[in-house]
Amino acid sequence: MQESLEAIGEALDENGKVIVTGCLGAKGDVVRETHPKVLAVTGPHAVEEVMAAVHHHLPGPAEDTANPFTSLVPPQGIKLTPRHYAYLKISEGCNHRCTFCIIPSMRGDLVSRPIGEVMTEAENLVKAGVRELLVIAQDTSAYGVDVRYRTGFWNGRPLKTRLYELANALGSLRANAPGGELWVRLHYVYPYPHVDEVIPRMAEGKILPYLDVPLQHSSPRILKLMKRPASSEANLERIRAWRDICPEITLRSTFIVGFPGETEAEFEELLDFLEEAQLDRVGCFAYSPVEGARANELPDMLPDELREERRARFMEVQERISAKRLKRKVGKTMQVLVDERDGKFAIARSSADAPEIDGRVYVEDGGMLKPGDWAAVRVARAGDHDLWAKLAPKREAQQA
Ligand code: SF4
Repeated sequence: MQESLEAIGEALDENGKVIVTGCLGAKGDVVRETHPKVLAVTGPHAVEEVMAAVHHHLPGPAEDTANPFTSLVPPQGIKLTPRHYAYLKISEGCNHRCTFCIIPSMRGDLVSRPIGEVMTEAENLVKAGVRELLVIAQDTSAYGVDVRYRTGFWNGRPLKTRLYELANALGSLRANAPGGELWVRLHYVYPYPHVDEVIPRMAEGKILPYLDVPLQHSSPRILKLMKRPASSEANLERIRAWRDICPEITLRSTFIVGFPGETEAEFEELLDFLEEAQLDRVGCFAYSPVEGARANELPDMLPDELREERRARFMEVQERISAKRLKRKVGKTMQVLVDERDGKFAIARSSADAPEIDGRVYVEDGGMLKPGDWAAVRVARAGDHDLWAKLAPKREAQQA
């Protein structure tokens, strides 16, 4: 919360006009007490309230804002990411009640967006030049549960409100994307059995062979205290099966260490799980009590230093695993998407790298490439998180 309050302060210093919306907005009193100059504070899903506040403080001409000749807002909306990638939010809220999390109390139960609306937004983004769609939600795999996987319509075609159908439909947008190339990346996917259906689409190259699966822990007792579904054994089996179907798959996950009552043996069980699972990318948080979370009522809160020490030990193990997996890419040719240029380097990402959270591919002779360009590169060396590469010879580029 402190970080968000500081960001609001910075925005106020920058331009003096700030409207706060989202989860923090639900705590309006805290925001207003800290920053009395904010123009408005709203909770999550408050599009109308935000728009009313914008119109109130920045009145524009009373014209039809959907008119492309007079409106500054394009039909695909305004997004804050660079032009070549965009986040596609498919639902809001969550039906789980993980004890360390307060999102359901702030955002409510799962509400899936109509599949036709999601697909139209995706189509418009691709038409506007987006090369990579990052599918997000609090729980992406639960998409459609709240509407019983209702059949919606997109371009007159019936389409079930379900992750599998959505992934297929998003993959089909490649056909109309410039150069026939589009990356569809799935984030925040629970390892439910029905997720297995999506993996063959990854093996066929319809969507990116990348899954961001927040596992949080491996000890059955801790998972139960966290109120997380699935056991570590089931997760390991699932991971093995995914890799059998799609050996190229990149698996990312997040974990919490130092959860209340976590014993040394349970923590070591988690380290063993890491060794078994051989995940590619991992984020780890030392448990930190969130105001209003039920986990705060659990006994045996661990001291700060122990939580931090376990986080460091966890990262030491995972960094070795990640670095080893990354090293296997040296000498291989791969396709990358350029994010930015830095002198004679291009800074890019491969299918294994989501923006901002994963590694980067530094293309040493990519100075002529522009953000949003595709390039085939051959990997020259690997660090702990990033790769260094050179543009691939033409013949190899055609196979990448
Ligand atoms: S951690 Fe994720 S799945 Fe669990 S309650 Fe929070 S949003 Fe839902």
